[in-house]
Amino acid sequence: MRIILFGAPGVGKGTQAKILSSKLNVPHISTGDILRRSVKDQTELGKRAQVIMNRGDLVPDDIMIGIIKERLDKPDSREGFILDGFPRTEIQAVALDKLFEELGIKDFKVINIDADENEIVKRLNNRRACNSCGKIFTLEQIKGLNKCPNCNAKNSFYLRDDDKEEVIRNRMEVFKASTMPVLNYYNSKCDVITINGIGNIEDVNDSIISTLKK
Ligand code: AMP
Repeated sequence: MRIILFGAPGVGKGTQAKILSSKLNVPHISTGDILRRSVKDQTELGKRAQVIMNRGDLVPDDIMIGIIKERLDKPDSREGFILDGFPRTEIQAVALDKLFEELGIKDFKVINIDADENEIVKRLNNRRACNSCGKIFTLEQIKGLNKCPNCNAKNSFYLRDDDKEEVIRNRMEVFKASTMPVLNYYNSKCDVITINGIGNIEDVNDSIISTLKK
């Protein structure tokens, strides 16, 4: 199964994509994760992306299209994938169509995870990442812990620079200006499945799975 997960930053795309990836047995392709890995490794791309990501802006389209081309060319993407965080501009959406055509991909689903903006800002500001394994937690989940429950790294929780309030506000503005048009683009081409992203993780995932089965 091929899925494009669409939604504002912090709506839960990453969390849902990980669960879907293991339930459907297809790779989770997160452009944010790919960039963060490059930042951690301090590659040329990483150094360039870091400054842009810390402001909450978008990395240039040509770079992102190159990254996704390379990733979709890998053998594990042949049978399916969950795209999380791509496309984020109309130019990326058009490039993805072209890439799908080249790869002979005709069937894919677009899932839009929807949530109220204030709820999203609150959520982002309340989340912490582990600097060792990258897993995201809510403050409640790690209350009183000094070790990451996922990888056991000690004192590894941090607030991502791009989850700080002023950066979140900018990410929301960027989302409205540059990424919302992607939803209009897909609405005009195919049936977009809209899922309410407010609620607990399992319930949101159940509604995605049951809609996919229909
Ligand atoms: P995410 O983890 O998906 O929220 O992405 C974190 C950051 O990586 C974004 O705020 C952007 O700076 C950058 N990024 C991720 N995916 C893209 C993309 N498709 N186009 C441009 N920038 C991206």
